[in-house]
Order: sequence, then C-alpha cells, then structure tokens
Amino acid sequence: MALLTTTTIGSLSRLDPELNKSIDEAVSFQLEHRLGILSDGEQRTDMISYFAESFDGLGVENGMPVVLGKIALKTTPEEFSKVKDLQYIKSKYPDIKVKVAVTGPTTLGMTCGSRKIKSHYKGLLDFRLYEDIADALAPIAKAIVASGALVQLDEPFLSQGYRDLDARVKLLDRVADGLPRDKVSTHVCGYIGGHGVIDHLLNLEEVSTLSFAFAGRTEMPNIAHVSRKAFEDGGKKLGAGCISVTPLTEAEVHTPEQVASKLREIVDKVGRENIAYVHPDCGMRATDRSLVPIILRNMRAGVDLFG
Ligand SMILES: [Zn+2]
Repeated sequence: MALLTTTTIGSLSRLDPELNKSIDEAVSFQLEHRLGILSDGEQRTDMISYFAESFDGLGVENGMPVVLGKIALKTTPEEFSKVKDLQYIKSKYPDIKVKVAVTGPTTLGMTCGSRKIKSHYKGLLDFRLYEDIADALAPIAKAIVASGALVQLDEPFLSQGYRDLDARVKLLDRVADGLPRDKVSTHVCGYIGGHGVIDHLLNLEEVSTLSFAFAGRTEMPNIAHVSRKAFEDGGKKLGAGCISVTPLTEAEVHTPEQVASKLREIVDKVGRENIAYVHPDCGMRATDRSLVPIILRNMRAGVDLFG
C-alpha cells in the first residue's frame, strides 16, 4: 500500500532576505523532508498582507490591514504575487506538486474590516464586503490552477461560527466556481464541532478536500466530528492535521509514535481511501523556527511508521 501523501498548510518563516533565494530554500527544505505536495512557504509576507497590500480597496495603515473602499483585484491575476511565485517555482522545479494557499473571504474581510472600514461598506456585517473579496479571489484561484497547482482556501475564522455561516461557507464555492473540484481544498483550523461548521463545509460543491487539525489540544476533539459516512456522502476527502504546530520546546514536539497513533485514530474514523493527505495542524510561520524541522522530521517518521 502506498504511504499517505504528506504536505503542509503552507507558511514557513522567511528563510533568506532575497525573495527567490528564500523560495528556493523553502522548496529544498520541503524536499529534504520528503513532502509529497509542496508550498511556496509564503516567503513574501503573512496570509493577510499578500492581499491587503495589493487589492484595490484594501490597505495597510500603521502596520494594520484595513478596508479603504470597494474591494477588487488591482492587477491581472498573473501579476498577483502568489501566482508569480508559483510560476517561479514551476519554471525551476517543473516536476514537483504544488499547493498554493489563498486566504478566504471571511478571514480576510474580518481581519481587515475589524480594524477600519473607511468607505463603501456599511460595516463589518455588510455582506458585500465578503462577496467582493470572493469575486477578487476567484481569478487568482483560477490562475493558480491554470499554472498546474492545487489551491487551498484558508478560512480559520469559520471555526468561530457566524449567524450567516451558511452564506459565508458558500462564498468558498463562489471563489472556486468553474474549477475542477479535485484541485480545490479548504483549510479550517481550530475546533470544528461548534455551530454546525463541519456540516456546512461538507455541503460545499466546488471543493473536494476539507483540511482540519486533530493534533493540538484544542483540535483533538475534532475527531468526534468526522466520519467515513459524512465524508463519502458529501463527496469529500480529508486533509488531516496529525502533528501540533505549537510546541514550545523540543520535548513538546509530538513523537513519530504519537503521529502514527493519531493517524490510526483518523484512518479508523474516516477510512484510508478518504484521506487526501496529511499535514501539520496549521501553517508554521509562527512556530519556533528551530522546532519546524523537528516537526516535519517527526511527521515524516510517523507516516513511515504508520505504513
Ligand atoms: Zn490553520
């Protein structure tokens, strides 16, 4: 039987002052750890700033992302930083599989809009804010898939639940509209058992893979909310977070045995054939730099041990 495919959620801390060198380092680092699907390592900036710095209607004031007016894509999607970095990776490493993370409408809109909304939108609850972001993200998602990569829509905020959660989740279908669904995943970290979050996500039509965390303290209870039947009925595959990204010391990094036992727990519940890939619980930009290689090494060893 083939080993489970490994990947990451995407972000790593910046590895070199020069951008392309930094991307090269991120790629070699992931190859060294034998990951099956690589990311750009988000070497330019954080998951909000990619968009806040380059969308019409978004901006950065005093280091904080804000909403300034009607949101739209400023450039062609090919000129958007994430697409350019992907094309750089594809030109230099044509044979590797790549997944590109794109921040979803709710997480992006809430983060920028909660600081300041200067004009055009009535407030943080004005749903047009999120619709406009979805419409700006759609061509980017399309360009990523057209460049031969998978796209991952990151929506960590959805786990907090919203009164209009159903409409917010449906915006992900709007971003992915027209793309082959097997190219599109959604990552929601945190606890997914509240507010019916998981049920809404299982209803997505344009997204094939749902990526959740199972290894951190807050996320361990997620296992109770996934099942083979729900994933098969919803036509979904699981991206499974199998190692915590928040250890503070080397001793706190989950061991290969702990990873293997977590994988057994997940596979027992969902079925091996329903696992798209396994990954650390979340991005690792905020993880202690010295622990990131140990996390990836132990995840690799845990996947090998699980068999
Ligand atoms: Zn996450």
